Amino acid sequence: MLIHEIVHAYIFTNPEVLNGLTQHAYMLQNYIDGIIGSLQTFFPSLTSQQAASLALGGLGDDITGTQAFADVLTKYGFTTNMNSRDYFAFYSKLYEYGTSGTSCK
Ligand SMILES: [Zn+2]
Repeated sequence: MLIHEIVHAYIFTNPEVLNGLTQHAYMLQNYIDGIIGSLQTFFPSLTSQQAASLALGGLGDDITGTQAFADVLTKYGFTTNMNSRDYFAFYSKLYEYGTSGTSCK
């Protein structure tokens, strides 16, 4: 996602902000609310939970197993049970598979 790549570019030019965190751990701590807000500005029909799903879905497998990630899931009302409709990846999977939204391919 574009906003995600912009944050990577920012970190790349300002590596000291990481303070020992991985780039995705840093984003998780500092940018999720901002990414959700931007998504909802560009796509007003997204619910907060759909926007959170997309924001979190971009972070990658290096972070999804961590306690910090589990805490954020709880904060945004998701379950950590992967088989549930309330799991965070439920909406981002719909977009990935082209069920919702417009595919870029
Ligand atoms: Zn990334």
